Amino acid sequence: MKNGIVYLVGAGPGDPKLITVRGLECIKNADVVVYDRLSSPRLLSFAKPEAELIYAGKSPIRHTLKQDEINQVLVSRALEGKTVTRLKGGDPFVFGRGGEEAEVLLDQDIPFEIVPGITAGIAVPAYAGIPVTHREFNSTLAFVTGNEDPSKEDTSIEWDKISTGCGTIVFYMGMANLPHIVEKLTANGRSQDTPVAVIRWGTRPEQQTVTGTLADIEEKAREAKMGHPAIIVVGGVVSLREKLRWFEQKALFGKRILITRSRSQASVLAEKVENLGGEPFEFPTIEITDPEDFGPLDKAIASIDSYDWLVLTSVNGVQSFMNRMRHLRTDIRRLSTTKIVAIGPQTRAEIEKYGIFCEFVPEEFVAEAIIEMFKGEDIKGKRILLPRADIARKVLPETLGSMGANVSEVTAYSTVMGAGSSEELIRLLQDNKIHVLTFTSSSTVKNFVKKIGPDNVSRLLKGVVVASIGPITSASARELGLVVDVEAAEYTIDGLVQAILNYFKAN
Ligand code: SAH
Repeated sequence: MKNGIVYLVGAGPGDPKLITVRGLECIKNADVVVYDRLSSPRLLSFAKPEAELIYAGKSPIRHTLKQDEINQVLVSRALEGKTVTRLKGGDPFVFGRGGEEAEVLLDQDIPFEIVPGITAGIAVPAYAGIPVTHREFNSTLAFVTGNEDPSKEDTSIEWDKISTGCGTIVFYMGMANLPHIVEKLTANGRSQDTPVAVIRWGTRPEQQTVTGTLADIEEKAREAKMGHPAIIVVGGVVSLREKLRWFEQKALFGKRILITRSRSQASVLAEKVENLGGEPFEFPTIEITDPEDFGPLDKAIASIDSYDWLVLTSVNGVQSFMNRMRHLRTDIRRLSTTKIVAIGPQTRAEIEKYGIFCEFVPEEFVAEAIIEMFKGEDIKGKRILLPRADIARKVLPETLGSMGANVSEVTAYSTVMGAGSSEELIRLLQDNKIHVLTFTSSSTVKNFVKKIGPDNVSRLLKGVVVASIGPITSASARELGLVVDVEAAEYTIDGLVQAILNYFKAN
């Protein structure tokens, strides 16, 4: 049996990309991941599919697993020889009880390693534009727990010393005690006009920041309904936020954007949204699967060199066609005399990955543009292969056929309804949790409407921005009663993102 080991890993403050390279490696290698509420759930998607995921979910109100039980889980899994990653918010050794967990492991002779993380006390102010130290303001910095029971007689916080003795004071877990903290600091000599910031859900799309002074922060935080989890920063450095705020200025900051395309394709759009400060929410309304019958595609591939043209209309089309070629061990050199057409730059880029360059990429990325292009060619009697989705529009094969071409339309992949729960989607829309819906094909719209129910469209989509990748998708959306607010000028993911940006700039 292999020896078990436990990695106590800091997951960073919230933004999943703020984990360390080493931390991510530990997630990928783990047999068991034990995580708590403040570590981003998105990080779990990097675990092996067969890894056991255990929620230890500590929140100040509700302890899901008691600390003893967490220790017990770590110990028992490690003794089974498993590689255990204990994922903790921020840094494991900063108000994270990582030290205690390490002591328990030591007692049991279980090997462990510590992977530090970016602690909230530094990262959260940074995302609010507040450097925790700055030469003009401070040369000391204190991290203080804010959840000490105010009624406790002998406090372990030396308020008389930290109040005036530390330039910047950062409180963790302090929201419930904000009045107490303010009172202690001012009673111990910190000036009433010391700047204070309260930052909730820092580094995340829902980051919320309230600034004031010791005199008024309590009231301001109450007005803004600030709650847990939040970092409280006290000190002159807070004033730098005026100049240095950056994260909240991002073009899509605070916008939750629903991505309906298939999971395998969602990441490109998700990444762009994230880089612009928005929060992508993946809810695939379509998934790509094998066609019901590979027969026609296989037959076409068997005589692939007999085709004059190969027309590929989507990235999925390229991938499924090429995968099938490989599966059948058909050498791509057999395409050497076939002219290749791609709709749009993404489809072209996908083909180029195989070292194949297209004869044509129509300017506009719709079937009609391909037809235009073929009008300049003599296609009478020419063999054209069209490997596509089972649900693709008929206009292309029909028109090319009427122009005298011999068109073989074969199903290379099927699109099926995504598995996500209708209730979840409806709840998100009802709670106004989604700001923008993105549709990248007619089938994403159709399945979306099926998911929420056609009768609910106008009610649930009130105030939600509907963004479509192009005119065909927009037309499908309108047919189903949606009001399209944004349509990409260039029918690509980049075009879609640009159109969304333009919309928010104008509105
Ligand atoms: N080990 C963690 C801290 C755990 S204590 C770390 O190093 O960051 C939990 C406290 O951390 C919360 O009560 C809150 O004060 C702070 N915190 C963690 N993540 C936060 C976030 N994204 N935004 C604001 N505060 C956060």
